[in-house]
Amino acid sequence: MNKPINQSGWRPGTPMASEDAGAHPTVTGNKALMLEEPLIFEIGNAETTGVDLPQAKGDTASRLGSHARKGPIGLPGLSEPETVRHYTRLSRQNYAIDLGLFPLGSCTMKHNPRLNEKVARMPGFADVHPLQPVDTVRGALGVINELAHWLIELTGMHGVAMTPKAGAHGELCGILCIRAALEARGDAREVILVPESAHGTNPATAAFAGYKVEDIPANAEGRVDLEALKARLGPDVAGVMITNPNTCGLFERDMKAISDAVHAAGGFVYCDGANFNAIMGRVRPGDLGIDAMHINLHKTFSTPHGGGGPGSGPVVLSEALSPFGPLPFTAKMSDGIIQLVEEENASEHGHKQAFGRMTAFHGQMGMFTRALTYILSHGADGLRQASGDAVLNANYILRSLDDVLDAPFGKTGPCMHEALFGDAGFAEGMSTLDLAKGLIDEGFHPMTMYFPLVVHGAMLIEPTETESKAGIDQFVMAMRSLAERARAGDEALKTAPHHAPRARLDEAMAARKPRLAWSEPEVAPGSGNYEIPGAG
Ligand SMILES: *Cc1c(COP(=O)(O)O)cnc(C)c1O
Repeated sequence: MNKPINQSGWRPGTPMASEDAGAHPTVTGNKALMLEEPLIFEIGNAETTGVDLPQAKGDTASRLGSHARKGPIGLPGLSEPETVRHYTRLSRQNYAIDLGLFPLGSCTMKHNPRLNEKVARMPGFADVHPLQPVDTVRGALGVINELAHWLIELTGMHGVAMTPKAGAHGELCGILCIRAALEARGDAREVILVPESAHGTNPATAAFAGYKVEDIPANAEGRVDLEALKARLGPDVAGVMITNPNTCGLFERDMKAISDAVHAAGGFVYCDGANFNAIMGRVRPGDLGIDAMHINLHKTFSTPHGGGGPGSGPVVLSEALSPFGPLPFTAKMSDGIIQLVEEENASEHGHKQAFGRMTAFHGQMGMFTRALTYILSHGADGLRQASGDAVLNANYILRSLDDVLDAPFGKTGPCMHEALFGDAGFAEGMSTLDLAKGLIDEGFHPMTMYFPLVVHGAMLIEPTETESKAGIDQFVMAMRSLAERARAGDEALKTAPHHAPRARLDEAMAARKPRLAWSEPEVAPGSGNYEIPGAG
């Protein structure tokens, strides 16, 4: 049963990290600057907060009839300062890229230059409204058009759909282009091939678009098995979806041969380009025969992201797929004016086969502004250096850890922008999860775990190009210590984290029986000095 809560919201008996922090427990649960914080419904008081409205004049009888509310509304009762403190305290229990290294593989959590923010906040960009007359937003359209130009230039492709709002949304856009192209030639193909090393969104996208998904095995090196792929191609295969560099952190060296084989069999090649940060300025996907590829602006081109947003996933398209790209898009006219191409003027622009549209409006304006700022401030040489540094940093981590952690695909050569390890060599009963929880105690966000699926107990680490050597060395030191503890079977690792605001949770219960809504604790009347908001 829940115990009563006192004024600060603290409940005796709540498992708080400070209790097992051992030597010096505090009565408040606070640990100096780290303040304990209950749920918003457990604090405040609806009786002492709110707004005093003047007495209504005239007929005050309620006209709501049977619609009148029968119980209290159940909102938390906090004053403004209490609300501000609540959220500020919670925010301090968070980890952020502005606090430290965020090694999440596949996510490209890098420093986001403040210059991007400054430009994105300029009123001319920040305050535009999607329903403004086109004549009043020529500058914003110019930004979209110029970014489109650079994305085409960097990828060596023919066209780009700017509107998709995330990587997965871009995948859907690309697959819908492929379907439109096949339908236009009266070719009803049903299967999309996806290698084992693909990102999980790839098979999900293909299935969502109505295709049957078939696996292509990986070879012993962690790359697509070219011969197995070739053997499966045929008149029922609409295309392949290949992540390159793949989620094992490896470049698919056979990409051109894969594209040629798929094209020869009448299919299209979708490339998941979320890892473009590893190859930008060095390889052009267009030269590898790719027909469609999304770019995660929030990863490669540095928009702050996490916890599900925000995202922006423009899709570059080959000449064969460009005619089917979605509306709207921007086009530069001979007089230099940027036009918005919508349904009503699409034929004028020779774009009659658009498969439809991905978004109500024009895409993520704030992210376009940030991405263009990033591209222009880096320049061609800077972008090329960024991908080189990202790869260098990942290889530094790979080689700094491969004597204490198993690196199944790191034996034969270097990796790209992320280093992949497995749990082989851990003591009986020790898992990747234990090591990751220990990493929280060491002050780092855990790496991507148990993904990709082809490696047992996978740990996928992406340092990005913006980490300093000193920062990476500290991470390596923590990882080496944790790896040694996992190999030695250190029991304390099984109950980590010990220093976090919350200790280890029952994750199976949290996933199977999540408590998504707050319910009033059962408090015997008079047992606490705190009244439940809205009770009675
Ligand atoms: C992040 C990522 C995606 C999905 O992108 P979202 O923007 O999260 O939808 C797809 N593939 C790979 C390889 C990724 O890293």
